[in-house]
Amino acid sequence: MKDANFLKEHNARHLWHPMAHPADSLANPPDIIVEAEGVQIIDVDGHRTIDAVGGLWNVNLGYSCQPVKDAITAQLNRLPYYSIFRGTTNDNVIELAEMLAAFFAPDGLSRAFYTSGGSDGVEVALRLARQYHKIRGEAGRVKFLSLKKGYHGTHTLGASVNGNANFRTQYEPLMPGCYHTPAPYTYRNPFNETDPERLAQLCLAAIEDEIMFQDASTIAAFIMEPVLGAGGVIPPHASFMPGVRALCSKHGILLIADEVITAFGRTGGWTGSRHWGVRPDLLVSAKAITNGYFPFGAVMVSEGVAEVFEKDTSGRGAIGSGYTYSGHPVGAAAAIACLRETERLQVQLNAGARGAQLFAGLQALMARHEVIGDVRGGHGLMCALELVADRGSKTPIDKKTIGKVHRATYEAGVMVRVSGNNIILSPPLVVSETDVANILSALEAGFSAI
Ligand code: PMP
Repeated sequence: MKDANFLKEHNARHLWHPMAHPADSLANPPDIIVEAEGVQIIDVDGHRTIDAVGGLWNVNLGYSCQPVKDAITAQLNRLPYYSIFRGTTNDNVIELAEMLAAFFAPDGLSRAFYTSGGSDGVEVALRLARQYHKIRGEAGRVKFLSLKKGYHGTHTLGASVNGNANFRTQYEPLMPGCYHTPAPYTYRNPFNETDPERLAQLCLAAIEDEIMFQDASTIAAFIMEPVLGAGGVIPPHASFMPGVRALCSKHGILLIADEVITAFGRTGGWTGSRHWGVRPDLLVSAKAITNGYFPFGAVMVSEGVAEVFEKDTSGRGAIGSGYTYSGHPVGAAAAIACLRETERLQVQLNAGARGAQLFAGLQALMARHEVIGDVRGGHGLMCALELVADRGSKTPIDKKTIGKVHRATYEAGVMVRVSGNNIILSPPLVVSETDVANILSALEAGFSAI
């Protein structure tokens, strides 16, 4: 490995970072992570921290998951690549599809379409939704509805349904026909409603109003995260997603669950949809499907949608989506090993228990630090702290102060993620009680530094 000075200098000179201003990366050089072990990461200066971000919400099993590493190595030696475009397939993708169909059976999903990540998956799901209606002779159903604050990747269709201006403004015009409705975000919402259940009802009414305004016969799908993630961990009231499901069914609109973060145990349930008792028509998974060790994803399709494609005799059912790396045999081998480990360890149970511990600790932290305006979580291992300059006006905290909290927490031994004025926590699902206690004490040090 090159030495620390070389790496720091050339990172600044030659590398642009995703989701960062190039000038910002020069002014605030990123930490260079060179090693990882268990739930910890180690930077080039030898500083070891608990990764309370879990990679990027994807390293659910931690960094030392040997069965997944072994599966990747063995597969590289046996068949490092072959395409699954029409005419060929491979043993791994078949075995994995069977396993995914069993895993997602309670969600009513039984066909897999492979991708190389979440943005690809969102794109595929939205395209399949339009195609589904075209096959059925409802070619006018082309629009998409989604939630403000939602995050659905950065491909053009996904960015068009994104509900955060940061990912949209510099790339407009985006796709026409995408409309956004208010998020069930209790801390800030246009209704000034602080009761989660009443807010859920108001948001559902706003969705139905938008459906009527657009004309249901022009809408292909509603896409949503069961718990809004990148937008700041916003769990809705339990009535919300079932309410969206009911509206979609009533108006012939497909429900796409974007479970890039929530599938495979993160919410304390196996999937976010199941957590809320909902069966989506399409479900997008990625991230933890390979524990972050290989870029991979799967869009899961319900029986009802699958039947329309499979029984089509018009030719309109031919799938015109696919990537060179759709069904990569190494990714599929990683996913098979990962799914086995995920189920063997029953990680969703630990996510529930450790998530409750983390959420309670964060609430106690809020009682001690005025700068924390809101604490969100309570559904597995995804939590956020929203920081404000003062609690009365809820003015978002400035970048410099939140940066200081981040730095001091890192120095105290824990990596957290800053997103806008939120600190996001999504540690691996295998964290121990002691790890969570350490995350909380490092955050205490972080907040004490400002
Ligand atoms: N959807 C959701 C809900 C996500 O959280 C993300 C990534 N954070 C994506 C889609 C995009 O996934 P990817 O970064 O793998 O393209």
